[in-house]
Amino acid sequence: MRYAETGYNLEVDLTRGNIEKVQTDPKLTKLYLGGQGTAAKILWDRVPPEVDPLSPENLLIFSAGILDGTPVPGANRTNVSTISPQNNLYKDSLFGGFFGPELKHAGYDKIVLKGRASNLVYLWINNDKVEIRDASHLQGKGAGETADIIKEELDDLDIQVAAIGLAGENRVAMASIEHSNASSSRGVGVVMGDKRLKAIAVRGTKDLNIAKPAELFEKSLDMFQYIYDHPEYCGDFMAHEDDEEWHVDNFAWGNARERRKGFWNKEREERWKALSESIRYRWNGCYNCPRDCHQALQYPGHHTIFQKCYSKLTYAMAAYEELDFNYKMISRTQQYGLDGYSTPQVLAFAVELYEAGILTDEDLPDFPSDSAGRFFYLLEKIVHRDGFVGDALAEGVYHAARKIGRGAEEYDHNTMKKNEQVPVKLGRVAYHYFLMYATGEKMNITQIEGSFPQIPIPDKEAREKFVQGWDAAPDYFKNLYLEWEPRTQLSVDGAVRVVDWNELMHYVDDSVGTCAFLSSFRGQFGGRPPYHIHNLPVFISQATGMDIDADQLWEIAARNRNLVRAINVRRGMRREDERPPEDHWKKREPEMEQKLLDEYYKFKGWTNDGIPTKGRLDELDLDYVSQELIDRGIITGNEEYLSQSSSTEETA
Ligand code: SF4
Repeated sequence: MRYAETGYNLEVDLTRGNIEKVQTDPKLTKLYLGGQGTAAKILWDRVPPEVDPLSPENLLIFSAGILDGTPVPGANRTNVSTISPQNNLYKDSLFGGFFGPELKHAGYDKIVLKGRASNLVYLWINNDKVEIRDASHLQGKGAGETADIIKEELDDLDIQVAAIGLAGENRVAMASIEHSNASSSRGVGVVMGDKRLKAIAVRGTKDLNIAKPAELFEKSLDMFQYIYDHPEYCGDFMAHEDDEEWHVDNFAWGNARERRKGFWNKEREERWKALSESIRYRWNGCYNCPRDCHQALQYPGHHTIFQKCYSKLTYAMAAYEELDFNYKMISRTQQYGLDGYSTPQVLAFAVELYEAGILTDEDLPDFPSDSAGRFFYLLEKIVHRDGFVGDALAEGVYHAARKIGRGAEEYDHNTMKKNEQVPVKLGRVAYHYFLMYATGEKMNITQIEGSFPQIPIPDKEAREKFVQGWDAAPDYFKNLYLEWEPRTQLSVDGAVRVVDWNELMHYVDDSVGTCAFLSSFRGQFGGRPPYHIHNLPVFISQATGMDIDADQLWEIAARNRNLVRAINVRRGMRREDERPPEDHWKKREPEMEQKLLDEYYKFKGWTNDGIPTKGRLDELDLDYVSQELIDRGIITGNEEYLSQSSSTEETA
């Protein structure tokens, strides 16, 4: 019997209209758990580098975490994995809400989609009954609107829907997949649109087997209470915060040219608070979680908005507009299905080009003179791929700059690995942040940082107090943090280990399905985040019956991390790609940055070019990966394996 997981994937070939329920190998669960881990394994096996991301052979995988649908609170993440047309590399994105647990209750751990439908379709999964349905009536509909129509036509409000908007249909690079109060960003909606799949609707009413139900239920009840009682350690407090001074002063949300230091003031905060309260009709959360990190807002005359912390300011800051502009934009961009991180940057990039005279009135006829008007104008151009400029901008900043030419490349100053990055504009480069930006495979700093605080608390006594309550941190990091004085850097070794710890905790969550706001992202704010490497193994063991300990869980995370790196290496990614944008920080330290990369690679057991060595891969039971890298001439197999990577005893 399989526990916690269903033991079945749904394989859907959209070209042939073929649907199969396929039993999976339990050995793979032991090695990669679920969620991102097992999805990455499928992509390695079935999408070789010769496959173009926009070909029917590329896969789009919706993968529930191993604990999704079990009683474990906050285990509800769905991982979407694919190969991205933006940079020809592995891309994964997570979304919360209710979809993953519903999928498990319908009897599937994953939906593996291949092919391309001849017309727009949607997939309807109703327990064992699965069908591909015509979606021509949904063409051009908003993502949320699509979900409403599907629920109505299937006459069941409990159906969970993940859908794309017009941006996905038109293969816009920033296209998201929207679900309930959550969304899957980083452009995975492009591949869904390319497959001509408008939506997936799922309804599941089956039970999941649990290895030790009584023990798990008791433990989960305690955890539920803990999460409920401790908002200071759990959930997205930024979503609830009214004071945005720190974010406004420290980030340049637009195209990373400047910060709006001093923009935030008490008067603005009061106005913002009053406006939000007047249009908010409820706070809500995700499946089996007592927190409420999302607010549903109804700005007069606009679509309902589900707002998360990161989309609170992005459009307003990028457009240098007032804060309510954000609501007006989001009500449209969520329906279009557009990522709230990268889209504002693409819009700001176009405005910059216009102001520099690179784009002219001929390119943008009737271009408004005000910033808000310009953003709306450009948004429509992009989602409809209207004209040469709309079509170019729909490819994202990196490709648009090259298509437009005329010197536009100079204005591509905030992309990395061809993705728009969260635009920091800080002073001196911080060693661990440099490394996270440079080497992070998840292409989004919020999916890499998290377990270790961003800055030291100035007062040593306060630091000591912080460390005392820091259950999640192993001694190495407690000591490292205690010794970290303001305005100093972490040691090179410390920075490398912090990056390793931060990122591996995300790899843990992304295979387990636990929300990062209850685990890998929350540790940086101190206190006692509910989940960490020391207690997650108990939940996993009781749910799956696998009897896993912290070291084994850490090894699974390391395996998944190396597998993802190998997918990208096989697609050509190398050290030279691991460069944050030039002006990300005012003061750079080029020699030190190279040293940091050297030491990080060594620590990971990779070559000096960032490629996993045979020694490290074999140690992680990834022999089939090392063999293929050798067969393809990417490594010889004789590279020195210099460093033993982290273990939980040592650093986690
Ligand atoms: S902590 Fe917030 S984002 Fe995370 S599962 Fe709970 S409600 Fe969702």
